[in-house]
Amino acid sequence: MNEVFGPVARRAARALRVGKVTMGGTAPIVVQSMTNTDTADVAATTKQVAELWRAGSELVRITVNTPEAAAAVPRIADKLAMMGVDVPLIGDFHYNGHQLLTNEPAAAQALAKYRINPGNVGFGRKRDAQFATLIELALKYDKPVRIGVNWGSLDQALAAQLMDENHLRTEPWDAPRVMREALIRSALDSAQRAVELGMAAERIVLSCKVSGVQELIAVYRDLAGRCDYALHLGLTEAGMGSKGIVASTAALAVLLQEGIGDTIRISLTPEPGGARTQEVIVAQELLQTMGLRAFTPLVTACPGCGRTTSEFFQELAQTVQEHVRAKMPEWKISHPGAENLTLAVMGCVVNGPGESRHAHIGISLPGTGEAPAAPVFIDGQKAMTLRGEHIAQEFVAVIDDYVARKFG
Ligand code: SF4
Repeated sequence: MNEVFGPVARRAARALRVGKVTMGGTAPIVVQSMTNTDTADVAATTKQVAELWRAGSELVRITVNTPEAAAAVPRIADKLAMMGVDVPLIGDFHYNGHQLLTNEPAAAQALAKYRINPGNVGFGRKRDAQFATLIELALKYDKPVRIGVNWGSLDQALAAQLMDENHLRTEPWDAPRVMREALIRSALDSAQRAVELGMAAERIVLSCKVSGVQELIAVYRDLAGRCDYALHLGLTEAGMGSKGIVASTAALAVLLQEGIGDTIRISLTPEPGGARTQEVIVAQELLQTMGLRAFTPLVTACPGCGRTTSEFFQELAQTVQEHVRAKMPEWKISHPGAENLTLAVMGCVVNGPGESRHAHIGISLPGTGEAPAAPVFIDGQKAMTLRGEHIAQEFVAVIDDYVARKFG
């Protein structure tokens, strides 16, 4: 529920199951991610899949690019099961998926979905046969497929054909529009071919990823109006750090607000040594700040200004956010609903009490020159005042107590 605009009217998409996860239809928008380990490295890939799952990824995609990677898939699935990590794995195939899945039946069985890029299935006369093999394998192992078109690997023969057709128009389209049409046609024509080969429309997800914000919005608006397949959203090659987050959010927020999108991925380039799980957290925060889903209590905090001469309130906001994020896996089971908790950490009396009253629990720290006291508000009422050196620990205890009482 978006509290300001009311429930977002989701586009009516066919629902499908990917392992234990439902997407499309009226199901919640699903968060997915992708590993960046060598899939043949069973230990490293298992570890990263587990980390992504613990961060909240509901589907995890892994590259399956070599016989060694394909052979590793069932071993990864077994190790995850032994660890209690119950997340559907999606195999990402390019060029040789038909061979890998044929030669490694255990991998074909262990994967919950196959991602097929129509631009990278094969070339020339081999293309149709290799695509058909992939669909036949999906049917044999009863797996859904994502037909995932990407701007960077667009079917060049189709693009050239549409360019030729465009020249015959009395009013030719501009080149970007022709390219958008090529992306969409590649997805829709491939899906139609899969249906003709026996795949149910309810077993197909489509995506058409580009790296430009406006292009992505235009492509998905058009695609959403031309089919009822479930759609996977993502801005491909979004980039690093704030640029990647802002660009992904700008594009996906517009589409999600229009009810378009049944599953999302944020394609961030991690900082060197940075956590892969950031893409999961960004995806969750995008959905939660838009009021579309709730995953973990969010902290409202002021930016600070000349009235805050210490970093204490920034540290407290960070401590609180990290605490609730760390507790959420446990609360999810023991205190369902805790994910809807709202918290406020404010730097001074100017907006502190007001903002704190709007949250379930809020604290207004003393700004420069104010008395060294921090009033705490619970459900809009002033409940206590914290003082001294242990404000952070005491405020965290207030949060834990509230969760235990309200969501027990
Ligand atoms: S609440 Fe106080 S410290 Fe925070 S930004 Fe506003 S005036 Fe500055």
